[in-house]
Amino acid sequence: MLRGLNMDRQLLISSLIEYAGRNHSNTEVVATDSTGRVHRTNWTQVHRRAQQVSGALRASGIKQGDRVGTIGWNDHRHLEVYYGITGIGSVLHTVNPRLREEQIAWIINHAEDQLVFVDPDFLSVAETIAPETVSVRSWIVLADEVPETSLRNAVAYEEWIKDNSPIEEWPILDEWSAATLCYTSGTTGNPKGVMQSHRSIVLQTWATCTGDGHDVNSSQSILLAVPMFHVNGWAIPFAAAMAGAKLVLPGPDMSPESIVRQIQEENVTFSAGVPTIWLSVVQHLQESGADVPSLNRLAVGGSAAPRSLMDTLEDDYEVFVSHVWGMTEMTQGSAGRFTHKVVGLDREEKRYRQAMAGRELYGVELRLIDGEGNDVERDGVTPGELLARGPWVAGSYFGLEDDSTHISEPDGVWLRTGDVATMDSEGYISIVDRAKDVIKSGGEWISSIELENAAVGAPGVAEAAAVGLPHDRWGERPLLLVVLEHDKELNPEEILESIKPHVASWWLPNDVVAVEEIPHTGTGKIDKKVLREQFSDFSWSN
Ligand code: ADP
Repeated sequence: MLRGLNMDRQLLISSLIEYAGRNHSNTEVVATDSTGRVHRTNWTQVHRRAQQVSGALRASGIKQGDRVGTIGWNDHRHLEVYYGITGIGSVLHTVNPRLREEQIAWIINHAEDQLVFVDPDFLSVAETIAPETVSVRSWIVLADEVPETSLRNAVAYEEWIKDNSPIEEWPILDEWSAATLCYTSGTTGNPKGVMQSHRSIVLQTWATCTGDGHDVNSSQSILLAVPMFHVNGWAIPFAAAMAGAKLVLPGPDMSPESIVRQIQEENVTFSAGVPTIWLSVVQHLQESGADVPSLNRLAVGGSAAPRSLMDTLEDDYEVFVSHVWGMTEMTQGSAGRFTHKVVGLDREEKRYRQAMAGRELYGVELRLIDGEGNDVERDGVTPGELLARGPWVAGSYFGLEDDSTHISEPDGVWLRTGDVATMDSEGYISIVDRAKDVIKSGGEWISSIELENAAVGAPGVAEAAAVGLPHDRWGERPLLLVVLEHDKELNPEEILESIKPHVASWWLPNDVVAVEEIPHTGTGKIDKKVLREQFSDFSWSN
């Protein structure tokens, strides 16, 4: 091999914050903490405080490869901790506080976290699980002082970083060193740990900054509406540093009122998050008559974004929706921006593409297979299981030997995503369903996602969920559950009429039931498992 003659520089997360710290002392990071206090800081200060975190971690005996947990909101301290932990080669393990306490304990034990940063809001969780999580030597409370607590080994973050000297230089690590650990929500079986290397994070961050990724750049003011515990906030905390963009961290209050206020006050141009958040923001905008003139683009993913959401955001508020698909195993997995050809198409054609879940993004190869493992054609209509591979796709799980999620092919390892999808010749994917949520009626498949998306466009419907329930004749039939808008009455015929033009006639739900709320998983997805359990005794009216 004739070797290329480039410099040997490792791709490290510390280089992102160092770059931002050197060049973007005038670029703000605005954060609201759990007391409601707003902190205005900048990238130079975030860099410096991250070095203080690293110094204190080293003084606490944290070494390279040690896992360090966080149970926090989106705020400046969590951001400092992101860089402080990874900068010295220890592993940032973000824990989803919305999980049940026993799940949190399971995850912390599995990761063997040595130390956990915890927001005061979650102190009671720490108190409950502390006796079982024996690997945790200290709980660092993300606050000025420690509130009253039964935890014996709790320390206040501000005291802790002040009492130790910051590190002055970031160590040069191997780019393959583990950097972050994030567990999938484990709707089937135990959660699985996705461990990303520094190299993977830097590469996926670069992809996030590309025009067809999320186009994160220095002209932007970004509101992070994705929790930092959900797939590293979709890499946006890293991308904002790589680009030197303004970053707005909203803290615990994710109400539509608070989001809209922060967009207005901080001149937010771009935000990202799951559809549920934007559905509630749109409803609030419509009811209050408020506007968000600075906002021009949203990245929406994590579950399917309904067509009606795009229509309203673009037609009424001039906000382009970049609809993407992704997973904990790879962060962003598809590109949401239109190709040149699509930009020139008419509104209907564009929206049709937009309602799909993006298209193949360089760096994440996508492919479909059928039940026998044969390749499915990219014809835009034939469904198959979606497989993915690439330099930032997880190749295996942390501490899991029995891994049925990856398959070995002659050309290497592929990740089975568990999603059923179609793909066309331009790489546009359309997620039919999670393999386990697809409704099987008379041997044919009904997409619960398409039913839900059509139902959300029906009059009076705020949110909808479709689940397959046992049916004597058909095996399974769809039941539609709807949360009605304020003051609206249930009118099943009207809802079904409105869905009819969008789906095959035999897909129409057999029944429509109004519910107070639809349960969501810790990452904002409709919890179909809970719904199927809740309606297990349901009897069909027809
Ligand atoms: P968890 O399962 O822990 O909530 P993930 O964020 O890893 O976390 O979930 C990934 C899954 O979310 C995908 O496999 C897919 O089923 C679903 N998903 C993500 N984006 C979309 C999208 N745009 N449309 C439909 N489903 C999506």
